[in-house]
Amino acid sequence: MSGAETMTRPAVLILLGPPGAGKGTQARMLQDRFGLVQLSTGDLLRAAVAAGTEAGKTAKAVMTAGGLVSDDIVLAILKDRLEEPDVAQGVILDGFPRTNVQAEALDKLLAQNGQRVNAAISLEVDDTEMVTRIAGRYTCGNCGEGYHDTFKTPAIIGTCDKCGSTNMVRRADDKAETVGQRLAAYHAQTAPLITYYERQGNLQRIDAMGEIGQVATELSAIVEEAVA
Ligand code: ADP
Ligand code: ADP
Ligand code: ZN
Repeated sequence: MSGAETMTRPAVLILLGPPGAGKGTQARMLQDRFGLVQLSTGDLLRAAVAAGTEAGKTAKAVMTAGGLVSDDIVLAILKDRLEEPDVAQGVILDGFPRTNVQAEALDKLLAQNGQRVNAAISLEVDDTEMVTRIAGRYTCGNCGEGYHDTFKTPAIIGTCDKCGSTNMVRRADDKAETVGQRLAAYHAQTAPLITYYERQGNLQRIDAMGEIGQVATELSAIVEEAVA
């Protein structure tokens, strides 16, 4: 965990967990607190869809159906992002890796730069909670701050606490029809990564059923140790 190498290399942290577990919410807080850069493949893919790139066009149908975008597309997008200079401070991967192929590709990519995964932190919530969280989720369209109809409301309903924008957006795939598919994809393809990182000795588990602040406190303690 510790040692000279991790002190000089940028930290690489992974947040694992089903859709709605709170990965994005927690990653944004870790970004502010530890100066790490949140890297969400979901956000990168949504940007590609909005920009109408070839990858975005292919990804759109898969995302709408609640499946996983192909490893090739996701890895290409991730590699491009990792080449930007801001990530040198260290990254929190949110929503990546999601398959064994992605996890192995990440290990290889990091090894080429003399880096490695510092910790993979599994945010554990049950399926019912995940559905409730997704059903009430919305985001500030201007700054990306996340909210929830019940669990995280802005001080003035409809106005972002962070930037004052009134442009709140809901994701197209956060509908009841798609949630079942996303959950199935998580159990079939992503949950096995818990074992993958356990075998590497990098796994940390967090009970993510608690309140946002409570989860953040537990997570911060783990991150502090992992990046020390
Ligand atoms: P993920 O990135 O894992 O899909 P999000 O961070 O977007 O999840 O969280 C999903 C929804 O649940 C958001 O509306 C968020 O405000 C809310 N949320 C996040 N963490 C918690 C928590 N610990 N308790 C209650 N609601 C939460
Ligand atoms: P959540 O964690 O709330 O499900 P994300 O924003 O991480 O949402 O992902 C939204 C969608 O983008 C996923 O349902 C999937 O289609 C696609 N996606 C995101 N990250 C990956 C990934 N690493 N591999 C494959 N597909 C991905
Ligand atoms: Zn905002």
